[in-house]
Amino acid sequence: MIKLTKRQDEILQIVKENGPITGKEIAEKLSVTRAALRPDLAILTMSGSLDARPRVGYFFNDKLEVKRQAKKFIQQKVSDFKAHPIVVEKSTSVYNAIVQLFLEDVGTLYAVDTEGNLAGVISRKDLLRAALGNKNLQELPVSVIMTRMPNIITINSEETLLEAAKKMINFHIDSLPVVKEVNHKNNTYLLLGRITKTTITKSYLEFMEEK
Ligand code: ADP
Repeated sequence: MIKLTKRQDEILQIVKENGPITGKEIAEKLSVTRAALRPDLAILTMSGSLDARPRVGYFFNDKLEVKRQAKKFIQQKVSDFKAHPIVVEKSTSVYNAIVQLFLEDVGTLYAVDTEGNLAGVISRKDLLRAALGNKNLQELPVSVIMTRMPNIITINSEETLLEAAKKMINFHIDSLPVVKEVNHKNNTYLLLGRITKTTITKSYLEFMEEK
């Protein structure tokens, strides 16, 4: 997708508000000659932003606009969308983790060590599995059932929502811990937040409604 010049953006705006509109009318609105606009109109129609019909004029192509907006949305940084992580200590019992899940109304909990570094991920299914096979959930620490480092898929604040979405889809997971690397060699990552499929979906709806 090409980046538009200021003039091309103005043309798009005019066609969006007034279309169908002839090239002559657009030129009048911009106080330029029809000839001066020709290259911009050619680019906009070739790129698919505008449709042109003989003797009727230029139309706005909604589909491409939606695509352009979606691209703008998905290229935003994780840092602007991350939510607070809901954490438990590694030694917390499975029973208390289940209670926490309900209290916080989330689908995933993160376990941290005493320094606040990410130690594990505990999802709904992890807790269900533990509950199925175990009578004493109050005695069983989450550290036994959680997904641990180095198997945790993480994201950092500077990555984009696109990268977050790809990771969640490719690894079949609902959320990603947002982390800052402390020491790569021994897998130490400070937990800063979380990003979920819901975060992305909800933010996308809000973003598109604003447009
Ligand atoms: P649910 O258990 O509700 O289906 P997920 O699909 O997120 O939720 O989790 C599926 C499995 O993947 C669980 O065992 C969970 O511990 C693990 N998991 C979840 N998030 C991550 C992650 N970011 N990195 C690695 N494993 C994860």
